Amino acid sequence: MFKDYEIWWVTGAQLLYGGDAVVAVDGHSKEMVEGLNKSGNIPVKIVYKGTNNDEKCVGIITWMHTFSPAKMWIKGLQQLQKPLLHFHTQYNAEIPWGEIDMDFMNLNQSAHGDIEFGHICTRMRVARKVVCGYWKEEKVQKQIAVWARVAAGVADAHNVRCLMFGMNMNNVAVTDGDRVEFEQRLGYHVDYYPVSSLMDYFKKVTDKEADELVEEYKKLYTIKIDESGEKVYWEKVHNAAKAEIALRRVLKDEGATAFTTNFDDLGGADIDDPNFLGFDQIPGLASQRLMQEGYGFGAEGDWKTACLYRTLWVIQQGMPTGCSFLEDYTLNFAGDRSSCLQSHMLEVCPLIATDKPKLEVHFLGIGIRKQQTARLVFTSKVGPGIKATVVDLGNRFRLISQTVECIEPKPMPNLPVASALWVPQPTFEIGAGAWILAGGTHHSAFSYDITEEYWEDFAEMTGIEYVKINKDTNIADFKQTLRNNEVYYMLNKALK
Ligand code: MN
Repeated sequence: MFKDYEIWWVTGAQLLYGGDAVVAVDGHSKEMVEGLNKSGNIPVKIVYKGTNNDEKCVGIITWMHTFSPAKMWIKGLQQLQKPLLHFHTQYNAEIPWGEIDMDFMNLNQSAHGDIEFGHICTRMRVARKVVCGYWKEEKVQKQIAVWARVAAGVADAHNVRCLMFGMNMNNVAVTDGDRVEFEQRLGYHVDYYPVSSLMDYFKKVTDKEADELVEEYKKLYTIKIDESGEKVYWEKVHNAAKAEIALRRVLKDEGATAFTTNFDDLGGADIDDPNFLGFDQIPGLASQRLMQEGYGFGAEGDWKTACLYRTLWVIQQGMPTGCSFLEDYTLNFAGDRSSCLQSHMLEVCPLIATDKPKLEVHFLGIGIRKQQTARLVFTSKVGPGIKATVVDLGNRFRLISQTVECIEPKPMPNLPVASALWVPQPTFEIGAGAWILAGGTHHSAFSYDITEEYWEDFAEMTGIEYVKINKDTNIADFKQTLRNNEVYYMLNKALK
């Protein structure tokens, strides 16, 4: 996906210092862009060119080689719809002390040219990331890489169609919200899709097709037959395969890259009816496998988390440790290692597994159809991670992130679902308290690979509020941030 996108590099200069200076600026820019591309640190290709509009372009990098009077940028910045990164750097690293003269100074004026450009961006309230440092340094390139990944994620978000198979769960507030505003701000298009139409796909899946998929399961997963017995096991795995095929076909035909399910809306009527047609339980195995491939997923109709998970997956493509939809389930009080067990009824993404998942069939007594059903069971990696969510506060969307430390759980032989166990940072008490004060969800999009910098860039690009909870959080300051933000977002529209 990154290969489908480009970032455009725009260099500021002026003719005051003569045509030769402009030729040098052009040469330097080309060399720098080539150097950044060759560094291997930035996943999206940077292209040096002038400004215009292109679908492929997911963001703009600007750099002022010489002094560039910023009023010339006003009309361009008014038109700018793409994410902006302002790179404050210089072609050469050190001043050539023995040779430096006035010509050299005129040509290498980023020191004040970038400040002039920065002023006009601030004056015009242009959202952007400012990266300062030498362009050949890895830590500088890595900041650009973060922004490039997020820019690709934001571009993708504008093409996401999320299908809700069933609505969001009745009476649940946090999974609800304004889908029109969501599309305006973040780009995601969220549609209801009738479960009856999904059933039309389901009934057309042949046994042969399902059997072929079951063969694939056998290769990928450890087959573990427990209390359900062999007959029920294979019947349920077969049904899960059928559900997966049906879901895949709908998503493909509808051009959707995210979806939600609801355990109260599974199609069909009475399961004891001989003509019964419907899912025998929520299609958990399918959701797990589709998440792994990058489909956004939210349980119980949680379209916001489904969309956010999709973007997270896009942002962190190629990273080693994985991401998943997760839910805060059960607390474990243990002094300063108090933690929260993360899981779901079935739907945890195998990307975060430590080992080969086990394909198991067990009873699931939740929802409209309490039945035995298939799922992948595994434990998750340990180490630092970050969870994130978006909530609708009525007048704005708030993105919340929280850093967590994933720790080793004890064996849970009677809980046959995938899970993770984490200590919210800085402590359970402060971390969980801040999350609740911020109005966070019980569902989240979780990653071992990315950092707060990614979510900060995401919020900047989409213009939504961002609050972060981490090892430095204290409740008094956090509450003050939330209060300050109330005022800021009330006034924000008036400023633009
Ligand atoms: Mn849930």
